[in-house]
Amino acid sequence: MKIHEYQARQLLLDAGVPVPRGEMVESVAAAQSAARALFASGSRQVVVKAQVHAGGRGKAGFVKLVRTVDEAVDAATFMLGNRMVSVQTGPEGIEVHKLLIADAVEIAHEYYVAVLVDRGSRTNMLIASAEGGMDIEHVAATRPEAIIRMPLDPVRGIAPYQAREVAIRLGFRGKAVAQASDLISRLCTLHRSLDASMVEINPLVLTPPTSSDPDGKVMAIDAKFAFDENALWRHAEVEQLADPQEADPAESRAHEFGLSYIRLDGNIGCLVNGAGLAMGTMDIIKLHGGDPANFLDVGGSASEQAVTEAFRIILSDERVEGVLVNIFGGIMQCDRIARAIVGAARTVGFRVPLVVRLEGTNVAEARTILEAAKSDIPVMQTASDLSDAARKIVAAVGAGAAA
Ligand code: ADP
Ligand code: MG
Repeated sequence: MKIHEYQARQLLLDAGVPVPRGEMVESVAAAQSAARALFASGSRQVVVKAQVHAGGRGKAGFVKLVRTVDEAVDAATFMLGNRMVSVQTGPEGIEVHKLLIADAVEIAHEYYVAVLVDRGSRTNMLIASAEGGMDIEHVAATRPEAIIRMPLDPVRGIAPYQAREVAIRLGFRGKAVAQASDLISRLCTLHRSLDASMVEINPLVLTPPTSSDPDGKVMAIDAKFAFDENALWRHAEVEQLADPQEADPAESRAHEFGLSYIRLDGNIGCLVNGAGLAMGTMDIIKLHGGDPANFLDVGGSASEQAVTEAFRIILSDERVEGVLVNIFGGIMQCDRIARAIVGAARTVGFRVPLVVRLEGTNVAEARTILEAAKSDIPVMQTASDLSDAARKIVAAVGAGAAA
């Protein structure tokens, strides 16, 4: 589960990590008064930032530094009125409903710091770089030596000497070392105590020296946090930060009906019971040269209504050019699926080829139901086994694309 920057900033602030002053707003008028308040209380520059669950905002033009209230209003009007297209959104872009209006800090240098669960090394990993900012992906891809990786003890978390070592390797000097290592330690603690899968600060900045801070000040000016959904039950405070406006509507609907649904990039919709079988189905589609449009596990005991909803979700995705139903009836009875298929044909309508492979409990009854419905659902074919099913749907979709 992802949260917004403005929410992550609050968590950082509560954990004692310095962030610039700022306020979340949802309208141009509110952006105007937030900017006015910042300028009135001494800000020389203000930053207007889109609050969306996607990065790459700076390069997309959705992070704007402004010097007057009027400029803030223009930036807010633009961001709330246009979809943001960044490297992380896909060409259709995403709507922006919320903005962060914050104090713009002067930046002497931008760093990158993150803590994530690293499956490769099977532990939490602190990752840092002195070359933070908007090109970190490029740095990571071309100069991996510029990225510091520090594995963390899963039980003890970060030790003070480790935080200090990273701060020094990043190039912090003087009083900034203590500030940076303190911030790094707090970030590691936050990652662990909130069961986050990732906490990322990019950029972490050092401000230019002033008479009161001769070594500069260390601050977090962007924050991206993601949480382990399996641990949300013990973090009500995190769960309530979910923003329904940011969720994929199909994924939210699936969740409501107890279906596990994840959108993918292909064109073959899959309806399967059991996560393992769903993964196997996706693999076999790939093996036969196709591309799954989704992962969908209706579970062991889905009702007919939930299965109908599953069809509705799959068919509402306009990229879907064919549907493969693969059910192994254990607890799930095949006749229930068959009835749901007939019901879905009636209420939703199949506009694309459908291949059905059923096996297990009540399969004979299910076959009879499907056989009787064949003339009503001309796009339907049945398959004898999984390979046959995969071959048939890949061929049907290929034929559709060629036509
Ligand atoms: P994203 O990672 O989505 O591009 P960031 O919040 O990192 O968005 O902003 C992009 C860039 O904008 C930062 O690297 C930084 O240079 C500048 N920036 C962002 N927030 C501030 C701020 N509060 N003060 C000054 N500069 C900022
Ligand atoms: Mg950033």
